[in-house]
Amino acid sequence: MKKTVLFGLAILGLALAGPGVIRGEGETADPGELHRKAHLLGRDAQRAVYQEDILEAFEAYSEAVSLYQEIARIDPGWRTDFVQSRIEQWGEEADRLGREIYSLPDGVVEIRPGMTREGRRFDEGRAGAARVRETGEDEYEVESFTVTVVREGPLKGAECSCPDYTYRGRKHNFACKHIWSVITRERLLQ
Ligand SMILES: [Zn+2]
Repeated sequence: MKKTVLFGLAILGLALAGPGVIRGEGETADPGELHRKAHLLGRDAQRAVYQEDILEAFEAYSEAVSLYQEIARIDPGWRTDFVQSRIEQWGEEADRLGREIYSLPDGVVEIRPGMTREGRRFDEGRAGAARVRETGEDEYEVESFTVTVVREGPLKGAECSCPDYTYRGRKHNFACKHIWSVITRERLLQ
């Protein structure tokens, strides 16, 4: 219940941020201008950390990172090292703060870079990505088993109905080959 309220507040926060942050489609943005906005958001984030307003800090860092990603996309040559280090460092901050606010339900394996590749599951799953059939939003059928993708704020996870996941993966926190198939098909690690 608490998470729902926080999520609602996050949406409200984004809405209040208004058109100064979220631009219309097709509008050309200037890297310098984006950087100024991102810089101010970074300052807001640091102040929010100091005031222990974790949600505010998380939102501000996340928005700032997406602005720097936008700069890297529209003008890759613009202060490249600086932009990359902001994406990396503030991205890590946002991730750390996000983990204080959000968590995945028990029994769901987290999808993140560096997740455990147990046995041959990764190779077999990747090879079988074409067998994935989407049956609903974030729901997939793979070899007659059901894989469900779970999203909580910035976190992503999955669970599968197969015996391998039910009796081993869930317990020891690794993905079965069906989950790997879905990760591969949906590019969930990118
Ligand atoms: Zn499975």
